[in-house]
Amino acid sequence: MSLVFFNTLTRQKEEFVPIESGKVKMYTCGPTVYDYPHIGNYRTFLFEDLLRRYLKYKGFQVTQVMNLTDIDDKIIIGSQKKGISLDEYTAPYKKIFFEDLNTLNAEASEFYPEATKHIKEMVKIIKKLLGKKHAYEIEGSIYFKISTFPEYGKLSKMNLEELKVGTRVKADEYEKEQVSDFALWKAWDEKDGDIFWETEIGKGRPGWHIECSAMSMKYLGEYFDIHTGGVDNIFPHHENEIAQSQCATGKKFVNFWLHAEHLLVDNKRMAKRYGNFYTLRDLLDKGWYPMAIRYLLLSTYYRQQLNFTLEGLEAAKNSLQRIFDFSDQLETIEKEGKNPQAERLVISAKEKFEAGLDDDLNVSIGLAAIFDLIYEVNKLLRENQVSKTDAQLILNQMDSFDKVLGYLKKPEESLDDKAVQLVERREKARQDKDWQLADKIRKQLLEMGIILEDTSAGTKWKKKI
Ligand code: AMP
Ligand code: ZN
Repeated sequence: MSLVFFNTLTRQKEEFVPIESGKVKMYTCGPTVYDYPHIGNYRTFLFEDLLRRYLKYKGFQVTQVMNLTDIDDKIIIGSQKKGISLDEYTAPYKKIFFEDLNTLNAEASEFYPEATKHIKEMVKIIKKLLGKKHAYEIEGSIYFKISTFPEYGKLSKMNLEELKVGTRVKADEYEKEQVSDFALWKAWDEKDGDIFWETEIGKGRPGWHIECSAMSMKYLGEYFDIHTGGVDNIFPHHENEIAQSQCATGKKFVNFWLHAEHLLVDNKRMAKRYGNFYTLRDLLDKGWYPMAIRYLLLSTYYRQQLNFTLEGLEAAKNSLQRIFDFSDQLETIEKEGKNPQAERLVISAKEKFEAGLDDDLNVSIGLAAIFDLIYEVNKLLRENQVSKTDAQLILNQMDSFDKVLGYLKKPEESLDDKAVQLVERREKARQDKDWQLADKIRKQLLEMGIILEDTSAGTKWKKKI
C-alpha cells in the first residue's frame, strides 16, 4: 500500500510522493526558547519524530529542519526582567530543549537554525516583498499586505469576504477574527531597549512568521515536501508563511502540511497561559519513566486530541512493562527447532503495522498489531511452542518496530553497589535456607524498584519502570 498523509491544505488524505525521488525535505516549527516546554509541546515534537522515523523506515532519505525561535516578545520581556542579554537568556532553554529531546529518545534533526542567526536572510525576503508591493512600511515597521495575495486563507479555510478584515497587527499571535496585514519587521521602540538589528530595512527586529520562511528556504530550498506543526500553528503562522514565501518566490512553497492535534488537560488545551501544564521534568522528578511518557504521547493518532491524565500515564507504563516482559521472556528461550506459526504471526503483525502507519501514521493500528502479536505468541509460549530461532525472529521484528516507535526497547540496566550486595546476601540466605532473611531482602529490593525472579537458571533481577 502507498503512504498517505492528511494534507491540511486540501483537507484530504493524499498519496505522499516527494519532489525528488527517494528524498524528503521537511520543516518543523520548533520551540520558542523562553521557558521549559510543556509535554503538550512534546506531543507535537514527538509526532514529528514519528513522521521522520517512518519516512526513514520506508526508505526515504530525510532532511529535517527544526528552528529555534530565540527572539520574540516573551523572550524580550524575560531577558529584560533578568537584566541579561538575549543570548544569555535563551541559552539555558536551548540546552533544556535538546536534553529533553534526548530523554524522550527523539532523533536529531539535520538542522536546528536559530532565528537570531538568520536576520540577513529575513531582510532579503522582506526587501523582495517590498519591491513587489506585497509589503508596505508604516512608522518604520513593515507589514505584509494580505489583499495582494488572493490565496490568503486557503490553508485555514477562511473566507476573507465574510471576515472583517482588520487593518494591521503587530503581535505575532492573533485570532482569526482579527485577520489583518501582519508585521514582517517591527521598528525598534523604547520597550525593546538594546535588542535590535540595524539593517537595510531599518532598526528593529523580525516578526515571528518571516523567521520560518527564511530558515526553511535557506536549508530546504524555495519549494519542499512537508511542513509540520501543532494545529494552533495553522492560523496565523502557517497561513502567513505561505503568503510571504509564495509572494517572494512566485512558486508554490510546500506540498504537504501536517498538523498535530493538541494535548489536553480536563478537556482544555495544555498551555502555559492556562497554568494547566506539566513540564517533562515535573514528571521525571515524580519518578515517571521517560519512555512511558513517550509511549503515552505517541499512542494516539496524531489528528486526535489526547487528554492527559496520570492514570493514562500509569496505563502507558503498564503497557510498556508488558512489552518489556515479553521481550525478556523471549530472550531466555533455548528450545530447538522452528515453529512455522511464529513466522506467520510475525509477517501478519508487520503487514498490519505498516498498513496502519501508511494510513496517515495511524499508530493505534500499529500498536494493536504489536499487542496482537504479543497475545498470540504468549499463547504459544504457554504451550512451550516457541523455539530459540522463533524467538529471535520475533525479537528482530520488535527491533524493526522500534525503529519507528522508539520506546519498545528497554535500556541497558545496571545495579548500584548497594543493590548488588543485597542480591548477593539474599543468594547466600537462600543457600543457607534462611527463607525469612531471603524474603526480607527481596522486599527491601522491591522498595528500591528491583524485582527478583527465582528461575531454574538462578535468580534474575529487573528494574521496575
Ligand atoms: P511554542 O514553543 O509555543 O512555539 O510551541 C511549540 C510547538 O508545540 C508548536 O508546534 C505548537 O503547535 C505545539 N503545541 C503547543 N501547545 C500544544 C499542546 N497543548 N498540544 C500539542 N502541541 C502543542
Ligand atoms: Zn514556524
